[in-house]
Amino acid sequence: MSKSFLSVLSGSFSTPADDNPTVAMMEAAYAAAGLDARYVNCDVASADLADAIIGARAMGWVGFNCSMPHKVAVIDHLDGLGESAELIGAVNCVVARDGGLIGENTDGRGFVEALRELRHPGGTHVVVLGAGGAGRAIAIEMALAGAGHITIVNRSVGRAESLATLVAERTDAEADFRPWTSAYAVPASADVVVNATSVGLGDAEALIDIDLDSLRPDLLVADVIPNPPHTAYLRAAAQRGAQTLDGLGMLVAQGAVAIELWHGVSPNRDVMRARLSEVLGLETTN
Ligand code: NDP
Repeated sequence: MSKSFLSVLSGSFSTPADDNPTVAMMEAAYAAAGLDARYVNCDVASADLADAIIGARAMGWVGFNCSMPHKVAVIDHLDGLGESAELIGAVNCVVARDGGLIGENTDGRGFVEALRELRHPGGTHVVVLGAGGAGRAIAIEMALAGAGHITIVNRSVGRAESLATLVAERTDAEADFRPWTSAYAVPASADVVVNATSVGLGDAEALIDIDLDSLRPDLLVADVIPNPPHTAYLRAAAQRGAQTLDGLGMLVAQGAVAIELWHGVSPNRDVMRARLSEVLGLETTN
């Protein structure tokens, strides 16, 4: 059989895009899986999003990730939404399927996949700190994965309330919310607590406003911050004997889920994490 010189195309649309390291881990995964596929990191301004999507359709891309500021705007250009993307109201992964483009959200799925290696989500009480895009994705996916109760804690109480209402009305999980006005004490009933705020991004010493003594040894303490992954909050939790899950694992897992959706292949997560750690200048940890 003659060799094909036509690679399968995928990529990312965002702006700014130059500081997004995802391309390195995705292409490492493709190489390790022996896939003749490319992942192209594209800087796409909001005004050009429609044209970029028309281009991806014309070139037969298998799909693309959407990062800021396109996660909501992209929805108007798609042919349908997966269940969790519809609930979350945001798309970070578009998949070419049955002749159309379907919007999925792999952020929360990545979190759940990374969490499953440490704990079964079924029946858990999950405290989500933050109610932005990451908080919404995690709350909805944990509820869909069988969590029993979701507590949303956020400074802007309106966002916390609307997310708790969404979880309670559209999933089988119970939900409540708390305004975040002072050092938050994790309740004794909680099994998992996740920082889904942006506090800690690019600052290893920044610490969310939390009662550190409420981080018990039996809790799973998670963070969405991928860089630096060993945040002040996770370090404090580990010092108190709690199990920890960092945001690098979530970032790797959401990329791995995208590869499964686009190519039907399960990539090597260790290869992805090692490459990501390398380009971010981090120690390689699993
Ligand atoms: P948003 O801007 O949508 O939401 C930010 C959230 O952080 C809001 O809930 C906001 O509260 C809260 N917040 C910001 N500053 C503070 C503070 N000082 N104290 C308490 N709460 C605060 O951002 P995203 O949800 O999209 O992203 C959040 C983080 O998640 C980012 O750092 C991003 O890098 C990370 N992320 C990681 C992923 C991964 O794969 N590891 C995937 C997606 C995101 P309020 O509503 O009151 O303003």
